[in-house]
Amino acid sequence: MSISELRAHHALCVEFFQGKGYSPAFVDNMAELVGALRASDPLLTLRGAADGVCRSCPHNNGGVCDSAEKTARYDAGVLRLTGLNAGETLRWSALRALVRERILDAGRLCEVCGDCQWYDICSQAAVG
Ligand code: SF4
Repeated sequence: MSISELRAHHALCVEFFQGKGYSPAFVDNMAELVGALRASDPLLTLRGAADGVCRSCPHNNGGVCDSAEKTARYDAGVLRLTGLNAGETLRWSALRALVRERILDAGRLCEVCGDCQWYDICSQAAVG
């Protein structure tokens, strides 16, 4: 599987993916994407809309997230804290390093996605 686009906040979700998710199809798709990111360190264009992670998500209604307010807010938080912009292209490793330095090491995950249903799992992994 190749990947060339990513919603900004999915850089965080990928970091903490532990084989759990909304459905078996979602988990399978996510596992493939995470493997592709780690294996090939692709160039990624940052999106503010549905991406390959959303492809198999049961909350994806024809390309529109049924939690669109939350997911857009999470994207905006990652962009604000990293200084990146939607439409910008950079390598996965560079995006990951920025997210690590400016959000995770800075203890700011809660500012981005503290009301996500998976936050307890991700925040524990972030400090673990
Ligand atoms: S708490 Fe939710 S939005 Fe934040 S990294 Fe985890 S799964 Fe992604």
